[in-house]
Amino acid sequence: MQFDPSTGWCHGIRHCPSPNFNARPQGEISLLVIHGISLPPGQFGTGKVQQFFRNGLPADEHPYFAAIAALRVSAHFFIERDGAVTQFVSCLERAWHAGQSCFEGRENCNDFSLGIELEGTDELPYSDAQYASLTTLTRLLQQAYPALDVRRICGHADIAPQRKTDPGPAFDWTRYRTALSDSGDMQ
Ligand SMILES: [Zn+2]
Repeated sequence: MQFDPSTGWCHGIRHCPSPNFNARPQGEISLLVIHGISLPPGQFGTGKVQQFFRNGLPADEHPYFAAIAALRVSAHFFIERDGAVTQFVSCLERAWHAGQSCFEGRENCNDFSLGIELEGTDELPYSDAQYASLTTLTRLLQQAYPALDVRRICGHADIAPQRKTDPGPAFDWTRYRTALSDSGDMQ
């Protein structure tokens, strides 16, 4: 995995470009938001998250799809249960993952954040492969965007507590933060 700061795209991972993005109003990247998603909820490896982020979710295939298929959303990255990473939106662009949100008094977190979706649910432990890929990806992003220190990595539930619960209690923040600091020490 390599990151090209001139384009905002990671290489060595899948690219699945989404039309759901626009320009960052200030060009700033200073927050990393961790999410959890699975489609249908609790089912993994279906390919439906990728379709959802590209406005191709088949509304007639599942009652849950019918409720969300018209939403226009995206994230910069999606990490599947096996650790495979897919990028949908250049980091230079504003992906649509946070919605109405507030971090330390500042609203519209999409303007200045990156979004990483982990395939999962709030309650089921995320996989070892996902923690490994998430750690590698986060380190690359921190190298490119030094503002993304550990105090500026949060969960969707932290910035939209009335609406969102992801990545849920299943996400082990201590494990993630420890892995980030350990790998930093080895450089
Ligand atoms: Zn989320």
